[in-house]
Amino acid sequence: MTAETPLCPECDAEVEIPSDAMENELLACAECGSELEIMSLSPLELELAPEVEEDWGE
Ligand SMILES: [Zn+2]
Repeated sequence: MTAETPLCPECDAEVEIPSDAMENELLACAECGSELEIMSLSPLELELAPEVEEDWGE
């Protein structure tokens, strides 16, 4: 298997994907701290997760 290293959509840093990562899992970019969501594992696609600040309730 080839290790794919996707780039952070925010800062273009390489983002390490844990080998047990699942689709829809959230990761944090080590470089800029952005929350990234794994949209798809094959091919690997990352997208910025919607920002959730505090739990304000609804
Ligand atoms: Zn980043």
